[in-house]
Amino acid sequence: MSSQAQKSAEILAILGGVPVRATPLGYGHQSVDESDIRAVAEALRSDWLTCGPGVQAFEESIANTCKAKHAIAVNSGTAALHAAVHALGISPGDEVIVPALTFAATSNAVVYEEGTPVFADVDAETLLIDPASVADKVTDKTKAVIAVDYAGQPCDYKALRALCDARGIALIADACHSLGASFEAKPVGTLADMSTFSFHPVKPLTTGEGGMITTHSADLARRMRQFRNHGISTDVRERELKGAWGYEMTELGYNYRLSDIACTLGMSQLKRLPEFLERRTQIASLYDAAFATTEAYRPLERLADRTHAHHLYVVHLDDKKLTCDRNTFLGALRAEGILANVHYPPVHLHPYYQDNFDTRPGLCPRAEFAANWILSLPIHCEMTNEDVRSVVVGLSKVAGYYGR
Ligand SMILES: *Cc1c(COP(=O)(O)O)cnc(C)c1O
Repeated sequence: MSSQAQKSAEILAILGGVPVRATPLGYGHQSVDESDIRAVAEALRSDWLTCGPGVQAFEESIANTCKAKHAIAVNSGTAALHAAVHALGISPGDEVIVPALTFAATSNAVVYEEGTPVFADVDAETLLIDPASVADKVTDKTKAVIAVDYAGQPCDYKALRALCDARGIALIADACHSLGASFEAKPVGTLADMSTFSFHPVKPLTTGEGGMITTHSADLARRMRQFRNHGISTDVRERELKGAWGYEMTELGYNYRLSDIACTLGMSQLKRLPEFLERRTQIASLYDAAFATTEAYRPLERLADRTHAHHLYVVHLDDKKLTCDRNTFLGALRAEGILANVHYPPVHLHPYYQDNFDTRPGLCPRAEFAANWILSLPIHCEMTNEDVRSVVVGLSKVAGYYGR
C-alpha cells in the first residue's frame, strides 16, 4: 500500500473514507447446517408436527445437558420466564428483584403476573446482578429474584442462593445467554430453582423461536407444563396414550407450546453445542489477545470460578480516553461495516417502567453508567478469523480518530 492509500484508508467511513469491511458483520447470527435441515425435513414427514415425541426428546436432552431433573419446552424465552414466574404463584403486591441491565422480557414476565419488578444494580465490571444490591432491595414483599447470566457468564449463585435461602425467597436464573456455562463446576440449568433459556436465532442454539425451563422440582415442572397448555391438566398425546378424550382446565394458561418441528431442530442444534461453545471461546480469546493493551476500551471482567458461554462479547469504552460519546463511536464503527450493538438500555428507564412503576434515572447508577459506555462486538459461529480481525482493525481505527 502506498502511503497515500494508507492515509486515505484511515479516514473514517462515516467521514467519507473506505470502510474496513465491504460487507457488514452483525453482532449475532445463527449457525444452521445440512444436518439441521435434514432433521427438520424428517420432522415434517412425521405424524407429529406438534405435541409429539420430538418435544419430549428435546426436553430430555436439555435436561441431560444441564443435569436437571425436568425440562419444559415453551415457544420463547419470554414464555419460559412467564411460566417460571407463574409457577411461583406471584400475584399482585409481590415484589420480584431483577437486574436493571437486561432485556425487558426478564422484568415484563413479573408484570404479566401483576407482580412488581424491583431493580437491583449490577457490578460495574462484570455487569452481573450485584448480590449486595439485591440484599438492599429485599422487603417483606419480596418473593423471588431473577438473576441474568449477562453475556453468558453465570452470576454469583453462591451469594444469591445464600441470600434467598436465608429469607425464603425463590431464585430464578434467566440463563438465556448462558446455556453450556457453569459456576463452580455446576452446570447452568441447576444453579437456581428454575432456569430459563431462549432459542432465538442469536442465542447459544436456535429453534427459530423457542425456550425451555429446567428445574429439579417435580411440582414446579407440573405447573409449568399445565400453564403452557391453556391450564389443562393433560395434553393431547397423554390423552391418546391413555385412550382418554376428556380434559379439564383447572386454571388460566396460555398456548406456549413448542412444535415438534422446532424441537427436532433443537435436538440437532444441541448436538452441535460443544462445537458452538468452542468456536465462541476461540473468538473471545482472539479479542482478548487483541485488547490486552488497548486504552480506549476493555473487555468485561471474567471470573475464574465459572465458565462462560460467550453469547456476547462486550467492551467498556473508557469515557476518559475518548473525545466522543458511545453513540458517536458506535455510529462510526457501524459505518465501517461492524454492526456492534448495545445490550441493554436499562429496563427501569424505559418509558413504560417510568410511567407505570415510577422508576427514575439514578435508581441503578452503575447499570446506567455502563449502558452509556458499553458495546457488544460481533461474536457468532459463522464468523471467520478474518472477520474477527476486521473488528479489531475497525475498533482501533475509530479509537485512533476519537482517542485522547
Ligand atoms: C433473549 C432473551 C430473553 C427473551 O427470549 P425470547 O426467546 O426472545 O423471548 C429474555 N432474557 C434475556 C436475558 C434474553 O437475552
